Amino acid sequence: MGSVSLHNINKSFKAVDVIHDVALEIEDGEFCVLIGPSGSGKSTLLRIIAGLEEVTTGTVSINGKDVTELPPKQRDIAMVFQTYALYPQMTVAENMGFALKLAGMPKAQIAEKVRQTARMLELEPLLERLPKALSGGQRQRVSMGRAIVRDPSVFLFDEPLSNLDAKLRVQVRGEIADLHRRLGTTSIYVTHDQVEAMTLGQKIVVLRDGRVEQAGPPLTLYNDPINTFVASFLGTPS
Ligand code: ADP
Ligand code: MG
Repeated sequence: MGSVSLHNINKSFKAVDVIHDVALEIEDGEFCVLIGPSGSGKSTLLRIIAGLEEVTTGTVSINGKDVTELPPKQRDIAMVFQTYALYPQMTVAENMGFALKLAGMPKAQIAEKVRQTARMLELEPLLERLPKALSGGQRQRVSMGRAIVRDPSVFLFDEPLSNLDAKLRVQVRGEIADLHRRLGTTSIYVTHDQVEAMTLGQKIVVLRDGRVEQAGPPLTLYNDPINTFVASFLGTPS
């Protein structure tokens, strides 16, 4: 279970409107990509879904439940950031298990959950290492592992590949796709990269200046972009 509905979302910082009347329906199990240029409001929208940013007006529902007023912890989501955001003084295992520990899960159960997830991400040999002893790609996998152990209904990704070099980017992108195939968890993925959007997205939402310009399956946007702006991101060259 992991549907997400956004109704008439507006957001302003001070007097500046950055999100305008955004409405979106993301189905259970869907991989949805938000794409748009820098400053178009992608991160703000994702943070609104996560509860890290309050809306000015509008509602956010997860699994049909209005969560607009709920803090991040009470939303059934887990977020993967571009900067990994690992705790430097904790081992990989401790980083991955931290949220479960806070939630009061017994130690043995945490250890088992972490081991299972580490196996899936091929992180088992690294469990006792500190983040500083990991490569960028490994850190990003730990960051995904930390999200996965919590069994959320929805994964939120904010440009998770942008700090990786080109080769790793392709590898981790493949791992994210594989993860989605295996777990089927509803995912909302922010990027400004056309290839990532086309490879990963089942639905693509193009944002421009805080508005939804066009939303639909990748091929529809590719073949029938509604304007040159969408075409410049996703369309066939004309
Ligand atoms: P994107 O992720 O697409 O690059 P953002 O969501 O980060 O875009 O930003 C959208 C707009 O909102 C930008 O104009 C940005 O400067 C502004 N913005 C984002 N966060 C804040 C904030 N905390 N205070 C003021 N303005 C912000
Ligand atoms: Mg951003």
